[in-house]
Amino acid sequence: MSKKELEKLGVMIGLEVHIQLTNLKTKLFCGCSSDYRGKPPNSLMCPVCLGLPGSLPSLNKKAVEYAIMTGLALNAKISHHTLFYRKNYYYPDMPKNFQISQYDKAGGIPISSGGEIVIEVKNKKKTHKKEITITRMQIEEDPGRLTYPGTIDTAAYTLVDYNRAGICLLEVVTEPVLSSPREARTFLQKLRSIMEHLGVDCSIEGAIRCDANISLMGGNRVEVKNISSFKDVERALSHEIWRQEQSIKFQHEIPQETRHWDEKRKMTISLRTKEEEHDYRYFPEPDLAPINITQEFIDQIKSNLPELPDERKIRLIKEYELPAYNAEVIVSSKKLADFYEECCKSYSNFKKVSDWVINSLLRRLNELNLDISEIKITSDDLIKLLNLIDEGTIHNKTAKYVLEKMIKTEKPPAIIIEEENLYRISDPKKIEKLVEKIFQEHPKAVQDALKHPKSVKFLVGQVMEISNHTADPRILNKIVEKRLQQLKKRI
Ligand SMILES: [Zn+2]
Repeated sequence: MSKKELEKLGVMIGLEVHIQLTNLKTKLFCGCSSDYRGKPPNSLMCPVCLGLPGSLPSLNKKAVEYAIMTGLALNAKISHHTLFYRKNYYYPDMPKNFQISQYDKAGGIPISSGGEIVIEVKNKKKTHKKEITITRMQIEEDPGRLTYPGTIDTAAYTLVDYNRAGICLLEVVTEPVLSSPREARTFLQKLRSIMEHLGVDCSIEGAIRCDANISLMGGNRVEVKNISSFKDVERALSHEIWRQEQSIKFQHEIPQETRHWDEKRKMTISLRTKEEEHDYRYFPEPDLAPINITQEFIDQIKSNLPELPDERKIRLIKEYELPAYNAEVIVSSKKLADFYEECCKSYSNFKKVSDWVINSLLRRLNELNLDISEIKITSDDLIKLLNLIDEGTIHNKTAKYVLEKMIKTEKPPAIIIEEENLYRISDPKKIEKLVEKIFQEHPKAVQDALKHPKSVKFLVGQVMEISNHTADPRILNKIVEKRLQQLKKRI
């Protein structure tokens, strides 16, 4: 859907992003290990995270430090006084029947309020900047994990695993100012990059999850839950916009409700009508003392903040003379930016490296829905490939093919070129033979080419095809021209 069409529909999207502080060793209120991935179900739990009678939570100090760091990175106002609330609800993933969270009403103060993230979105060839306002950020605990054999609405039973219950989450809530699925995805990428620069690894499965509120034309808000990948954010939002648009067209009412994103069927399905806030009976958590945060503590954390994506972008523009857009794309992932800077240590055409990283490597990774951390290509491999182009061993176009193969097979470029014999053919005699073959196979095209210079392209393309894109295009063009001239003379 184009930007104009979306504007017409008055799309308003707000996100609630849950980020696991994966760098913490223990859960938020107990000493259980937070390293739950791949562990046997229900093997990492204790009376505290199970909420057994008589158990008392105690707060992980590191979690507060990281929350403050994140708040500062988002340009938010850190609260000097903050407290925890109980959010009561009965659901099998919640062993205590309440979640220890924070609240921004009835005397509740979240760890930080306000802040913003500036995003740059590319629409066709134009890019536009947008400031996404953050409402608040709070610290809360993750619920356990439910598994539905098959799909959520057809499963005969549900399995529960409490290993994740009590893991520390930061919830970042935005204002409903995002106006397209693409903006939402770009925002999430930037947020993830900020967290990565703070030292929180968000590439592991489930480390960053998001719920989205969407409304069209000022209508009811629909909440879509369970979106676990950035690609799915775009898909889920596009689907939901389409669904609501259809309802408006046929004058059906859009109820305020919570919907579930079904990854397998690529659609949202109704879960329940949305709870009102009073359904949760929020009240202050009596087992945890309020937290006082001094200005000194905040200042100390501030002075130790690492370089963040926006600062890094400015540095990349200055140090490597990159166009602003290239720099923005490169800092959208810390691992990508690290990879880029590593490349620049041994290759001096910085702009060329950035083009390769963005237009070839990143594009392919996006198509495959892969993260740079999931592939084995090193900066060394990419530079070797660029050197092979510069030396004239292979063509630009061949190099793109080799890069794809490198991603797929994890082999170094030289091996792929050797195995598939992708060396550039610059021997005129060899190229002449190929040209002869194509001229014989396509007599009609040759006749056309004699009359219309535009048709020459087809013949050149055919030779390229049979040479596996290894024929030197300059020599090839000359030979085709020469051959056509000779034929013309004969006529
Ligand atoms: Zn525990």
